[in-house]
Amino acid sequence: MATTGKVIKCKAAVAWEPKKLLTIEEIEVAPPQAHEVRLKVVATGVCHSDYYVLYEDIRDYAFPCVLGHEGAGIVESVGPGVTRFKPGDKVIPLFASQCGECLLCLSDKTNQCVKNWTLADKDMKSKSRFTCKGKVIIQFMGTSTFSEYTVVSEVALAKIPDSAPLEKVCLLGCGISTGYGAAINSAKVQPGSTCAVFGLGAVGLAAVMGCQAAGASRIIAVDINKDKSSKAKEFGATDFVNPKDYKKPIQEVLMEMTDGGVDFSLECAGNVDVMRCALESTRRAWGVSVIVGWVDVKDVSTKPVDLICGRTWKGSYFGGWKSVQSVPKLVSDYMDKKIKVDEFITHTLPLEKVNEAFDLMITGKSIRTVLKM
Ligand code: NAD
Ligand code: ZN
Ligand code: ZN
Repeated sequence: MATTGKVIKCKAAVAWEPKKLLTIEEIEVAPPQAHEVRLKVVATGVCHSDYYVLYEDIRDYAFPCVLGHEGAGIVESVGPGVTRFKPGDKVIPLFASQCGECLLCLSDKTNQCVKNWTLADKDMKSKSRFTCKGKVIIQFMGTSTFSEYTVVSEVALAKIPDSAPLEKVCLLGCGISTGYGAAINSAKVQPGSTCAVFGLGAVGLAAVMGCQAAGASRIIAVDINKDKSSKAKEFGATDFVNPKDYKKPIQEVLMEMTDGGVDFSLECAGNVDVMRCALESTRRAWGVSVIVGWVDVKDVSTKPVDLICGRTWKGSYFGGWKSVQSVPKLVSDYMDKKIKVDEFITHTLPLEKVNEAFDLMITGKSIRTVLKM
């Protein structure tokens, strides 16, 4: 390729500082180094976690940065030592890596990998291949899909079939895989069970889809936005509850509706108070509640007795999927019509309108916006 080994200049949406609109800039993307892959991003979803870092987190780490972690694209060139990818391959970059060699990757107890991108990484700057106006621009989550080109580690990349539509399957890079897997892999929803899903964005709707796939007989969808009701039912919810319609705490409402609590609950809103409601909505003797919503600056609490009597409280990162091996299978499941993807996409916009995509999400008007490069 004509660009191999050269710096590529391209458009990206840069987050210069917290709580400020992203601006479209020309950035320089360096060639991939050893065990890295440079790709042309074709499409990317906009996830609440991107918004969270920009507007809801109270720390100002990782700026300036390029956000975006739900993309799909085509390999442009590979660095030395890369054998699993070649130019032209269709790929999905992964914020959750799977090196296949570390203690965590070798265990079937977790989908964590020691090479996961983390905020604690002191080398965040040296690992970035982006510069703009003479400054290093951090690659958020190691992916930075709000850019026409990006460079990722080969252990954080999934090769997908040539026939996969990138402007759809990009959503399997985060939201859909996360919610669906949280129900199937983390909650381990059982056939005939009763479930509750709190928060009906893409992650929550995917959790509803997962509960249905696992054979749940009743799925109660909970959201403070009444407009989410019909979408939730389209994805398999049997009931919709809006906490704003009740004076009493929502956990009491669910307890009464289910004669003692649901078997499984999933929190997909990203709010510590909702996490507690979700836990306390489960049956005291055996309920399992899974935290999926992302919060890393506040504590979550409950009374110990609410766990002592038999509940389990757990979390789910990227739906519990071991990323490199699972994402291609999820893409195939979509192409075989076993899981929904198209139904999550309510808006398609150009990269330049990324701030509008955030507005659509936060006002509850969109489920997912896909940005096309
Ligand atoms: P979204 O903003 O599209 O959806 C959130 C939904 O929660 C909205 O429908 C909103 O109305 C609803 N909500 C807000 N407050 C509520 C309340 N008090 N009670 C009930 N519903 C409420 O977000 P999304 O992109 O679907 O992401 C959901 C969460 O999942 C975010 O916190 C995101 O950061 C997190 N996330 C986690 C992982 C992971 O690996 N664990 C991965 C992706 C996203
Ligand atoms: Zn995400
Ligand atoms: Zn690993």
